[in-house]
Amino acid sequence: MSQFTYARAHSVDEALALLSDTREKSTPLAGGTDLLVNLRKMPPSFTRVVDVRRVPEMRQIKLQDGHIVIGAAVSYTQVSESALLEQHATCLAQAARTVGGPAIANMGTLGGNVASAASWADAVPPLICLDAQAYVCSTAGARTVPVAHLIAAPHRTHLQPDELIAHFVLPVPHPETRTVFLKLGRRNAQTLSRVNLAAALRQDEAGRITFARLVVGAVVPIAQRFESVEALLLNQVPSSELMTTAAEHAARELMQRVGKHWAIEYDMRALKALVLRALRALVNTSVPNSA
Ligand SMILES: Cc1cc2nc3c(=O)[nH]c(=O)nc-3n(C[C@H](O)[C@H](O)[C@H](O)COP(=O)(O)OP(=O)(O)OC[C@H]3O[C@@H](n4cnc5c(N)ncnc54)[C@H](O)[C@@H]3O)c2cc1C
Repeated sequence: MSQFTYARAHSVDEALALLSDTREKSTPLAGGTDLLVNLRKMPPSFTRVVDVRRVPEMRQIKLQDGHIVIGAAVSYTQVSESALLEQHATCLAQAARTVGGPAIANMGTLGGNVASAASWADAVPPLICLDAQAYVCSTAGARTVPVAHLIAAPHRTHLQPDELIAHFVLPVPHPETRTVFLKLGRRNAQTLSRVNLAAALRQDEAGRITFARLVVGAVVPIAQRFESVEALLLNQVPSSELMTTAAEHAARELMQRVGKHWAIEYDMRALKALVLRALRALVNTSVPNSA
């Protein structure tokens, strides 16, 4: 039977000291809902887990210097119950409410979701959509990396073994920006995403779209922005034709990015439907001329 030891960190500094200790091959443990579950499939590549789940500064959600700071060990339950995130990061709060059942939502963390780097990770599209940066640290120092640049490939990040994501930093979005997260799973409840997306939209007083963001996950190897769809929407007044055109464009863009495979037609149809739903949810119908 494979064996490893357990150490609990009480601060970020303590966690970093444990991770940099060359006598052990350590890895961070947060909720364990990926790490421990994966041990059923393969033996551990580490000799010690460093539990960061009770590090107080990694469990906080706060406003600081005009930015939202979310500790990497914040659970989905904390995210979904945060009034601050509901107001300023709606798509992230919505995503958190779709993850697993209550046990997974209580244990699973944002840091673990990003560091696991699954293509279907539900927190990743909202974090990219909200321009989140990961504050990555080790005993050698700290760096700030956009979440979009932290993931190298499915299940692989640019994190070094002695590095820890301490928290995420998000700019507070413009008050008129609306955001949404949508997911299509393989089943209705407690399911991993087959397709997911986070989108953001802002309109001016005349109804014209002044900001658009579309981040697609699960049907692509790494969650990514569909900039050509964003460009198509920009400076337009939303109409049902525009929304349909944008949704169809997203589906074609998907085909261009991933190429033909056995499920591409389903994925294209599913993405088109989700983009359409997202745009309908985001368009402010109280603004003149908006469909
Ligand atoms: C039944 C079930 C349902 C699930 N449903 C969903 C779902 O709907 N959507 C979804 O996206 N995921 C889902 N998951 C996957 C999982 O719950 C999430 O990915 C969760 O966010 C992982 O977080 P964790 O804290 O449990 O990570 P852990 O398992 O503790 O760690 C995962 C990886 O991240 C690393 N890590 C953890 N924290 C840090 C950190 N701060 N810095 C650097 N590295 C770190 C660990 O070393 C490990 O490699 C589900 C899992 C299960 C078992």
